[in-house]
Amino acid sequence: MKEVSVYVHIPFCIQKCYYCDFFSAPADDQLKRDYMSALLRQIEMTEWDNRIIKSLFIGGGTPSVLPSFFIEEMTGRFREKAKFAPDCEISMEVNPGTVDREKLSRYFVCGINRLSIGLQSADDRELKALGRIHTFSEFVDAFEAARMIGFWNLNIDLISSIPGQSPESFQRTLRTAAGFLPEHLSVYSLILEEGTEFYRRRNELVFPDEDTVVKTDEFTREYLREKGYVRYEISNYAREGRACRHNCVYWQRGTYLGFGAGAASLIEDGDIHKRYTILRDVKEYARRMLAGPENLQCVMTDIQQLSRRERMEEFMYLGLRMTDGVSAEHFLHDFGIPIREVYGGILDEMTVKGLMDVEGGGEQERFFLTERGFDVSNVVMAQFLLT
Ligand code: SF4
Repeated sequence: MKEVSVYVHIPFCIQKCYYCDFFSAPADDQLKRDYMSALLRQIEMTEWDNRIIKSLFIGGGTPSVLPSFFIEEMTGRFREKAKFAPDCEISMEVNPGTVDREKLSRYFVCGINRLSIGLQSADDRELKALGRIHTFSEFVDAFEAARMIGFWNLNIDLISSIPGQSPESFQRTLRTAAGFLPEHLSVYSLILEEGTEFYRRRNELVFPDEDTVVKTDEFTREYLREKGYVRYEISNYAREGRACRHNCVYWQRGTYLGFGAGAASLIEDGDIHKRYTILRDVKEYARRMLAGPENLQCVMTDIQQLSRRERMEEFMYLGLRMTDGVSAEHFLHDFGIPIREVYGGILDEMTVKGLMDVEGGGEQERFFLTERGFDVSNVVMAQFLLT
């Protein structure tokens, strides 16, 4: 049996947040129904023999905008068709403005064991400025209801560097969020993305300068360390043993299957590593799936067989996102060549510059970014491209 992780994309939101460039949009009920039927069909048509699901992540968009019976039907369909590892992590993203106690209870009963709750800010004015549909008090209701129901693995998503946000305001948000004692916190620095409402209004918005962004990251790191959280990835912090297993699969280049429009897959068959994306068009995805196709090729796009060079690059720049970094032994196992033969010069240069650190020796060597390296991680990662 091969372990596989599964991602299901629900591309619907009540309204578009002003900073968001994810593949998501509002939709009418008919489109949602068609999409749900298409997803069920994709699950049925997938080859499950010899595969065991080690993590399932229902993300978006806002999966919690769908009626809960669909989440029940979908998880039920996965269980009918596929085997789940006994300790399978089953996560779902929820938006506080879209859930109540009954919905959360139904998620719990159908086996969801980890919720990722998008708070973003504990300040209602900032939530409004971000275009979020919920208030802080709705978050409190959702979080407390989830705990009462029995969810023992909760993440809170936060955003820093919101236009007009003072460092003190972000610090209040971080303290407030940590005060709920979640098992996991994700803290992303807001990035201005083309095509968003913020991008359109970029000349009238005041974004924090670079110095403030770096200081905010430092505060986040230090504060969460004091509170017992381990930073295990650039933007992710967890209590011991509560790192998001599903996301670790992406960073460690495990195998994953994507369901729904825009979802990506990485599959491995012997030496062949193939990546593809499901059609990024909700209506067309639903239309093609509901037309009763013979196979799933009709919704696969950007099919790409990864070369050894591309796999090495991904190994480095995804692996280095994690604070554990990358190991010489793992590199040798995957590519049959010592890491220093390919990247020795860059590894030494980054180490001399204080952006990277090394532990162990020989095959036991492990390379990871220092805190300074994380501050300029985009620049460091770019060094590992081999072209
Ligand atoms: S709820 Fe999430 S996915 Fe939807 S628009 Fe807002 S940030 Fe984007």
